[in-house]
Amino acid sequence: MMRLPKFDYRVPRTIAEAVKIIAGAGPEAQFVAGGTDLYPNMKRRQQTPRTVISVMRLPELNRVTGDKGQGLVIGASVTLTDICENQIIKRDYPVIAGAARTISTPILRNMGTIGGNLLLDTRCNYYDQNYEWRKGINFCLKKDGDVCWVAPGSSKCWAVQSSDLVPVMVAIGAKFRLVSTLGERMIEAAGFYNDDGIDYLKKRPDELLVDIHLPPTNGWRASYQKLRRRGAFDFPVLGVAAYVRYGPASGNEVSTGSDSDRVLNVDDARIVLGGIAPSPIEVSEASQALIGQPLTEDHIQAAAEACYNKARPLDNTDFVMNWRKQMAREYTLRALRELL
Ligand SMILES: Cc1cc2nc3c(=O)[nH]c(=O)nc-3n(C[C@H](O)[C@H](O)[C@H](O)COP(=O)(O)OP(=O)(O)OC[C@H]3O[C@@H](n4cnc5c(N)ncnc54)[C@H](O)[C@@H]3O)c2cc1C
Ligand code: SF4
Repeated sequence: MMRLPKFDYRVPRTIAEAVKIIAGAGPEAQFVAGGTDLYPNMKRRQQTPRTVISVMRLPELNRVTGDKGQGLVIGASVTLTDICENQIIKRDYPVIAGAARTISTPILRNMGTIGGNLLLDTRCNYYDQNYEWRKGINFCLKKDGDVCWVAPGSSKCWAVQSSDLVPVMVAIGAKFRLVSTLGERMIEAAGFYNDDGIDYLKKRPDELLVDIHLPPTNGWRASYQKLRRRGAFDFPVLGVAAYVRYGPASGNEVSTGSDSDRVLNVDDARIVLGGIAPSPIEVSEASQALIGQPLTEDHIQAAAEACYNKARPLDNTDFVMNWRKQMAREYTLRALRELL
């Protein structure tokens, strides 16, 4: 049986108290929300904080406010089950509720939070193992070792960003609010993830993720498709988030005769691949294949081909990497066809 190491557990009731505790405890401290990622990591001795600070009793982090007109603000400690069941999220941001529904299992979604999901540790077959297993291969670069077993010549860790909500947040242009004793800042989801399996976030360890800001839904739609072996609870080994916004009807449309036949062109588009690299990958060539065009099968095929070309999965998660690369095309087709 794997046991947790000893640690101090703190439960602050205000944001000010939470950031003060972590600033005082230094690098040996870490926040915890549902613990569905952190506690297994602690049992495997991948992360070993001496002080663990719960963010579940902070009222600001447990709220959902706003709507599709003004944009939605979701507190970081809102559970995935609440995300799936929230009436406004289901009605106005179905892509968020849909992607959350694919995460792990109902029991884990009762505990796991949206914030914890967006800050998930990166994953790799050589890392997500117990201490003895990792010791047996002399560990690896990400923790306790000095070689990457996936790319032995590499000085970089290629562990995979494996959250289902991350590619969706990047695609729809969400922003994250971070608070520390030094102040507050907003950061775009698109710029928040580093292409490095060890240093995978722009967030400093002393910063608390307070809430997630979704943009108003004027004219855009989004979808998410996930590849995994077992539909019941596996992590994504490929996720495709597609976002498309139609332009105002101002000469940017194709007329096919009567007004009712008018086909609007795509004004903005983003396709983001998750589950295949240390950070989500925005495929700008796919966006270019769609922008200024009607969303027809030809342009969807061109965008899917761009995603196939860009996808370079490594051999450190489930499935053969060449097949996962091919699935980038197929899952982009599915994600975009859902928006037709
Ligand atoms: C069997 C199993 C299957 C899973 N399947 C999936 C899956 O299919 N898809 C998927 O995306 N995930 C999956 N997960 C991972 C995990 O359950 C979810 O990502 C969950 O949303 C994590 O949330 P949490 O609240 O439990 O995070 P925690 O474990 O509490 O925290 C995760 C990280 O975020 C930090 N953190 C949390 N909240 C804050 C905050 N407010 N401010 C600053 N730092 C914070 C913690 O310090 C930690 O580093 C799975 C996990 C398991 C065990
Ligand atoms: S990619 Fe390499 S360094 Fe990173 S966790 Fe896997 S084996 Fe370790």
